[in-house]
Amino acid sequence: MALLPALDTDPKINAFRAEVRAWIAKHWTPERRAEHRKLPFKLRGWDPQFSREMGKDGWIGIGWPREYGGQARSPSEQIAFVEEMANAGCPVQAHNTGESIVAQALIGHGSPEQQAEWLTAIRGGERSFALGYSEPDAGSDLAGLRTKAVQDGDHWVVNGQKLWSTGGDKSEYVWLAVRTDGEVKKHAGISVLMVNLRSPGITIRPSMAMYGRTFSAVFYDNVRVPACNMVGKVNGGWKVITDALAAERVMIGGSRMAGLQRAFDHLTEHVKTATAGGKALRSDPLVRDRIGALAADLEVARQLLIRNTTMVEQGRVPLYEAAVSKVFTSELQERMGQASLDILGTGGLLSEDAASAPLGEMEQLLRHSIMGMIGGGTNEIQRNVIALRSLGMPR
Ligand SMILES: Cc1cc2nc3c(=O)[nH]c(=O)nc-3n(C[C@H](O)[C@H](O)[C@H](O)COP(=O)(O)OP(=O)(O)OC[C@H]3O[C@@H](n4cnc5c(N)ncnc54)[C@H](O)[C@@H]3O)c2cc1C
Repeated sequence: MALLPALDTDPKINAFRAEVRAWIAKHWTPERRAEHRKLPFKLRGWDPQFSREMGKDGWIGIGWPREYGGQARSPSEQIAFVEEMANAGCPVQAHNTGESIVAQALIGHGSPEQQAEWLTAIRGGERSFALGYSEPDAGSDLAGLRTKAVQDGDHWVVNGQKLWSTGGDKSEYVWLAVRTDGEVKKHAGISVLMVNLRSPGITIRPSMAMYGRTFSAVFYDNVRVPACNMVGKVNGGWKVITDALAAERVMIGGSRMAGLQRAFDHLTEHVKTATAGGKALRSDPLVRDRIGALAADLEVARQLLIRNTTMVEQGRVPLYEAAVSKVFTSELQERMGQASLDILGTGGLLSEDAASAPLGEMEQLLRHSIMGMIGGGTNEIQRNVIALRSLGMPR
């Protein structure tokens, strides 16, 4: 039950929400959900079978144009969809990166043959992707990447190392940024390849991230990749990468927001009934103060998301607006995690996997917040974008 006021008043979107809920009720049943929750936290959220079911019924790529098999749903409808999926705790990670980032790039830059093959597979929930951008010495300065691809007949031969690939140990493919020309200005010598992660010469080394799931270091040693797996022109990769990111930031913001709303609802429900030291938590003025402040912040975050969504619907690119929203919402996640732990007391430190945790998701929320502040471009870089690109403050 949502405790915050409903986001939409538009009857069309609410009818769509009802349709999505009906599908979820049939496919993500309480029994199936309970079974999934028995998995250790690190394995939750990734369910290729569920992705295939979504794909079969047309729920992957709902925002794509119809000519690519999508439903051409508006950003507002896509956000409503993401919220309903998040509210029900549906495991969507196996197709997320392919559906959003890879597909956006393929629609903009892929050849007709690539679109026919790869978009169909992604839409069917049949092809999972990790992102291979960051390297040990190229994170914020992504254009400094050094993983190299050299053409050899009808293949590219890849050598180098990537770091931080989320889902790199589970995905079938990686969307890989490589250097194909070292002689030109650094942005100008980058290309993008879709690489099968089971190819000979690839070593995947997973590590546990602080938030409880894995990321991988991936080593490429003379890995041969068919030339037809390059997306966009040779050395044209920078545009492929940046184009795919613009509208996508808004959707990522939508799913983060949906997660925060859901966690806040759970926290509020807990506060309404729990006691501490024999007193009702809800009567504690400090608790009421923290909860009220969080509700106000959530409303601000929602408004920022709605502004971005409206801009995308109008065909505009929310560069400054997306940076503002990313900084505010990811830092709100941290504030919410900290406030929750203060409210829940020492029991709040117990993780999701502990049977006696009063609300393990809040502790997890706090550990996860660091990813939001770093991934997809750190908040320092976002603040630079705000100052440099929008407020006219060149270095
Ligand atoms: C949990 C997690 C998951 C991730 N998943 C993926 C993934 O799936 N695929 C992928 O490719 N990458 C992934 N990343 C990597 C992420 O994109 C990078 O960590 C991020 O871009 C920062 O790069 P870096 O770690 O090299 O830090 P650096 O770029 O070395 O930055 C170090 C610090 O310096 C600051 N800094 C750097 N340059 C500037 C500047 N110009 N102005 C002000 N401050 C600056 C940064 O903000 C940061 O605080 C993930 C990271 C995390 C933490």
